Amino acid sequence: MSSISNLARDSVKALVPYASARLSMSGGSVWLNANENALAPEYQLNGSFNRYPDCQPPALIAAYADYAGVAPEQVLVSRGADEGIELLIRSFCEPGTDNIVICPPTYGMYAISAQSNQVGRTVVPLTAELTLDLPAIKQSQQTKLVFICSPNNPTGDLIPRSQITELLEFYRDSALVVVDEAYIEFVSEASTVDLLAQYPNLVILRTLSKAFALAGLRCGFTLASPEVIGALKKMIAPYPIAAPVADIAAQALSATGQQRMHQSVATINELRAAFSRFAASLPQVHRVFNSNANYVLLAVEDAAAWVQGIAAQGILIRNQSSQLGLDRLGCTQVVRVSIGSPAEMALLEQAIQTFWAQQATNTRSSGEQ
Ligand SMILES: *Cc1c(COP(=O)(O)O)cnc(C)c1O
Repeated sequence: MSSISNLARDSVKALVPYASARLSMSGGSVWLNANENALAPEYQLNGSFNRYPDCQPPALIAAYADYAGVAPEQVLVSRGADEGIELLIRSFCEPGTDNIVICPPTYGMYAISAQSNQVGRTVVPLTAELTLDLPAIKQSQQTKLVFICSPNNPTGDLIPRSQITELLEFYRDSALVVVDEAYIEFVSEASTVDLLAQYPNLVILRTLSKAFALAGLRCGFTLASPEVIGALKKMIAPYPIAAPVADIAAQALSATGQQRMHQSVATINELRAAFSRFAASLPQVHRVFNSNANYVLLAVEDAAAWVQGIAAQGILIRNQSSQLGLDRLGCTQVVRVSIGSPAEMALLEQAIQTFWAQQATNTRSSGEQ
């Protein structure tokens, strides 16, 4: 190792970077491994870009506040919801002292952001019923942020609203309850946004990456009380939102943009129901998790074999077997399939059948029975 790599902070040397879907697998022509939306509208950019943008572009903040049904003072825009997670941890958690609570299997960035900021993680796995283990959460020490993902990535389930309000009451003066609603458009009636009026310790994360089909734009929102938003604004970079990003985000949030989003949500929800039925009909699938989002988690015998067998036919899906808390759900091997376009889902069903036909042939020819 050259001496330059020794210059990094010890905590940075120890970090294992997040293995994003894009990093961990390349190639393939059908990407069903990052919960992106394949039904993508096209956008046009106009104008010149010689001026620095507003830190929080007022038109964009107003458009999202209107869409979400909150006041502009309750909205922060950031480079994806991922930056919202990072800002919450940096603004509210004292390194080396405070902890976040995570409830796996769940989205990986809460733990990664905490770790890179030297903030502790209290791990409280979901129960076998895919609900929060409230007694265990309440016993956690030095808790500043409780991350709840609903619909949960990768299981697709909703966390019961009564459990969220119980935590909001319990932590009223001591911690923030962060509800990650990255996929809420696929089940909009489940949003907790109405609870913001009652609970100043509620924080909601949103994004344009999933239902709005703008993962490449990097645009997310944090909804919270003006006190929380004020703290985050102290920590955010001076110009986080590039002018073209604000321009395209405003187009996505226009009446036409929202209408297109609702259409693609309806299509994806139908495709998900059809794919879930198909998966449930396969003897090789032990369990199809009931999903409220644009992906489905499948428990299988050998997740790596599935990912490789499907990738060999140009289709990428994601192995989620390294998630914590799977044993409590009674499985160890799981793959997550993002719902793509109708044509992509037809190719996927074909690929799964081809993969299983090959497995059967291999088994027969190797003499095992
Ligand atoms: C995709 C995702 C995010 C991050 O969204 P970006 O806005 O693209 O950063 C946050 N939370 C969950 C649960 C996600 O799946």
